[in-house]
Amino acid sequence: MLSELTGAGVLGAAGAFGAYWYLKFRRVLPAESELRASRRAMADFSAFARETMERAYAPEQVEHYADIVNYYLIRLHKAFTDSSILLFEKGDGQWTLVNYLKHFKAEPKLLTSYKWSAMDRSSAEGELLRFDDVRAGDYQGVEELFSVFGIKSVMMCPFNPAGGAPERLVLFGAPGPAAFDAAQPYLRLVASQLSSISKVSDKVFTLKKEADHLKEEVDAMVKELDVAGSRLIQRARERKALYEVVTKVTGPGADVQGGCSAVLNIVAKMIEADVVATLLFDENKGELVVSPGAYGIGDTERMHYSIPVTNHGSASVRTFLSRKPFISPDAQNDPEVITSYAKLWDIHSLMIVPISLRDRIIGVMRVGSKRKDFFTPDQLEFLGIIADELAIIIEMFSLYDNLSRTAQELAQLNKIKDEFLATVSHELKTPLTTIKGFVSVILSGEVGDLTGQQKHFLEITDQSVNRLTSLISNLLDLSRLGGKVEMEFQNVDLGELVRGSVSMMLLKAAEHGVRLANETSGRLPQVQADTRWITQVIDNLLINAIKYSGKGASVKVTGVDKGEAVMICVEDDGPGIPPQEQKLVFDKFYRGKTGLQSPGTGLGLAISKSVVEKHGGKIWLESRTGGGCRFCFALPAAKVRGENPGLKGDKI
Ligand code: ADP
Repeated sequence: MLSELTGAGVLGAAGAFGAYWYLKFRRVLPAESELRASRRAMADFSAFARETMERAYAPEQVEHYADIVNYYLIRLHKAFTDSSILLFEKGDGQWTLVNYLKHFKAEPKLLTSYKWSAMDRSSAEGELLRFDDVRAGDYQGVEELFSVFGIKSVMMCPFNPAGGAPERLVLFGAPGPAAFDAAQPYLRLVASQLSSISKVSDKVFTLKKEADHLKEEVDAMVKELDVAGSRLIQRARERKALYEVVTKVTGPGADVQGGCSAVLNIVAKMIEADVVATLLFDENKGELVVSPGAYGIGDTERMHYSIPVTNHGSASVRTFLSRKPFISPDAQNDPEVITSYAKLWDIHSLMIVPISLRDRIIGVMRVGSKRKDFFTPDQLEFLGIIADELAIIIEMFSLYDNLSRTAQELAQLNKIKDEFLATVSHELKTPLTTIKGFVSVILSGEVGDLTGQQKHFLEITDQSVNRLTSLISNLLDLSRLGGKVEMEFQNVDLGELVRGSVSMMLLKAAEHGVRLANETSGRLPQVQADTRWITQVIDNLLINAIKYSGKGASVKVTGVDKGEAVMICVEDDGPGIPPQEQKLVFDKFYRGKTGLQSPGTGLGLAISKSVVEKHGGKIWLESRTGGGCRFCFALPAAKVRGENPGLKGDKI
């Protein structure tokens, strides 16, 4: 039983062993090797996937995308060495071969275009499309494809590159269906990787484009700011130039003629011009003539430069007549300009602006540069502003010229008048002294008795001679004061002079029935004065007060110490001077209407004013309500011996 069993067991074991080996050789071994192969394939694929994913990056420029595609294709070819890989690009409905990998028998020509519907279909479906020998006939062009490249089976893998670049398609040729099965996941991976990269890249491109756009905008803004900045600087320079112009003409020591030439100099420097000149209209000649002070042209050339205003070929004349500014980029070759003038000045760029004063046009300003196309419309505008300033300066210049000519003529006339007065007065004085002497002798009765009528006539003659003598001596005084009269200044006590004059006038006052009183009290500070002339002033004021105040009036004199000045006033309670006449009493030869019965020349107050002013003092009339007059004068007190400081202010 045991042996039976053992025998049966041996047989069974042998059977199982046999079955095991049978299964091992026939089934398990192939399955194991298949498993190993598939593990290897999986390992290869995952290595391929890892490597390609590690190398993947989002390119920042469209051109770099082509490098990535090439890398993938090379890597693919490395994994499938017996494959053929061709890369096509679509444009204008045709597919152009842009790259390939494989040593073909007949090398394909790059950039050759094909029109195959199979490729169009693959790209339209966006799917891998596989063609074997059998199915090739379904699509036009596939047989041709096989024959052109010598490929038997192909797989088409379309993808859309980044950055809006043309559509692409990879054509993968393999030796047989098994190779296709192995390659399919690789191709899918490549296709999905490339399209993911292209999506990311699209975003990168868009962002980069936006960044570039923003940078451009920022650059443009910076440029604009730069331009605005330089304009501001330009404006500031223009303002400074204008300020300089105004200061030149109106500042201390302003010289109008120098101002004109300074303006032209400033303009030249401001706009970097080589020639700046004004052409003023000469009415007598009917020409525009270059005026003095031109910048950048020699005297000889300038002397010969004038253009008749009938010459309409001249841009200056046209600007003058039309008052429209003119600009030329190259005056030596401009039919609008008389080129000989531009050549004379050796200039190319030219600007001309009118110089007008209110409604009157007086000339033009010409500005030239040796460089071509040099001036800008901004500079033309600036020139217009300067031309307005220049017009005012020119006007000032001509007024100043006229005024100084008139002043010279007047000074000359005045001199002649003074000389005439001095001579005539002197010549009249001598015979008058003789007449007065003889009249006095006859009136005294020394040469015989006189009838009452003779005596009366001679007295009238004596009075007339007196008046004439007084007039002549006043005229002589005036003429002396108008010239360079020598004053003999010394320290004088005005109170003493007043006392002297009052006592001399007491008799005269009594004759007129006028009370005269000196109310100066205490000692007055000394003044620097010429005794003779100041005594004449006090006498004049006293005589007027006595003369014009009338019988029964009273006249008083006061002297006051005002600190810096000594003030003397002569006051009366006579009829006074009407307000409308008060301003005129110090004028030469002015005689008030109310006092015409009294003898006078109208020169006493004019002489007094001149004398007081020559002493650095002031004389005035205080208007009074209710009649009466108060004439005052003040002289500066002599604080230090020999000093004559002059009075400050109008009132004391
Ligand atoms: P004259 O006395 O020779 O006319 P003045 O120059 O001294 O010349 O005076 C000018 C005028 O001022 C006088 O004619 C007179 O009308 C007026 N005038 C001057 N002093 C007085 C005064 N105290 N009262 C009124 N009028 C006066």
